[in-house]
Amino acid sequence: MKIMYFEKTKNYMINAGRIIDNGGFCATGCDQGGTLYVEENRIAAVTSRNEAYSFSRVDYAAVEIDLGGLTILPPLIDCHVHLALDGVDFSAALKRWDNPEELDHIIEGQLRDTLNCGVLAVRDGGDRRGIARQAKSRCSAPLIKSPVHALRKPETYGAFLGRGTLLPETGNVLDHLVMLGADHVKVIVSGVVSFKEYGKVGPVQYTLGELAQIVHGAHRRGLKVMAHASSDEAVSLSIAAGVDTIEHGYFLSDDSLSKLAEKRIPWIPTVIPVAAQLHNPAAGGNNRLNRYVIEKTVERQLAMINKAPGLGVMLGVGTDAGAGGVRHGYGFHQELELYRNAGLSNSQILQSATLNGANILNLGWGRIQPGRPAAFIAVAGNPLDNLAALKRVQYAFLPGQSPPDNSQ
Ligand SMILES: [Zn+2]
Repeated sequence: MKIMYFEKTKNYMINAGRIIDNGGFCATGCDQGGTLYVEENRIAAVTSRNEAYSFSRVDYAAVEIDLGGLTILPPLIDCHVHLALDGVDFSAALKRWDNPEELDHIIEGQLRDTLNCGVLAVRDGGDRRGIARQAKSRCSAPLIKSPVHALRKPETYGAFLGRGTLLPETGNVLDHLVMLGADHVKVIVSGVVSFKEYGKVGPVQYTLGELAQIVHGAHRRGLKVMAHASSDEAVSLSIAAGVDTIEHGYFLSDDSLSKLAEKRIPWIPTVIPVAAQLHNPAAGGNNRLNRYVIEKTVERQLAMINKAPGLGVMLGVGTDAGAGGVRHGYGFHQELELYRNAGLSNSQILQSATLNGANILNLGWGRIQPGRPAAFIAVAGNPLDNLAALKRVQYAFLPGQSPPDNSQ
């Protein structure tokens, strides 16, 4: 996979076998090939092959790039990762936090894997030390959005995600997060899903009034709220408190799903951190009862994912990469396969993986149309026919020479 940064002072003409826009359709007809024009880091035009186009800045050098039969589409976006964890060994990853040199090396590898899988932006779910935030300032791609650390109640689930904040301190902590460069607020509304007892989830940590106070404080500071909510009780509380995205949402009800559609709150169902346990002997993969619980939990989540697009719920794709058994980058394609198992069409999956992710992360990406930032990937094959084409990313294109957006 080769990454290319556009230069503002050049015009580009890129020929491809196919240009897919907005998941659902080919911008220039699926089999006739297309040409994409880039000026000043933005998409200037999309035309059929050989159709005439004149750059508006005629004085600049025009660079022609021929991608042969490759397919151009918007970048893949992972709406939920934990860069501070590796998805292999939780306690070893925590120990690594005290060894900056080794940590940097591992995170560099994780970010390379992420890019190689076509994922050009990730939204981090936080870590106690703000490690993802530090990685963000050092790397130009993928783009990293970070909450620094997560908000949680002291003495409840998630000590590795955040220190624990007493409610009266919320305002000060939010101010501090803004100062540290947080892109959003992550709040731990519930505990985690059980792999041993079906339908069991750790308790809800906040009352409606408390959670609403956090959401209000975040919104007042211009930050969206990403809510870890693993039970239906936690989901409906989060919706009522006005959060901006629901993470996990295991066991959410039909009623909650309808409310997500009505209130236009995106859902990031993160199936792979549960499904991955089927291959993880340490987490009970060899235990028949646990295996049954995990399978049933996955099955239920897939059934709810199946209903989401029909109800008008915006689905993002998030992997919880770094969680047990979920590798950065690779987990994204596993999650897409699970969406396929849920019965979603390739076009619905592509839209979730690209445009919906861009909207959730507040990026202008996600469409291949004039005026949009020149951010896209090129893959071998047609992912509308076969999703596996997404695993064959050959090029990533991004605006700017270096730091595309992380410097802001
Ligand atoms: Zn998470």
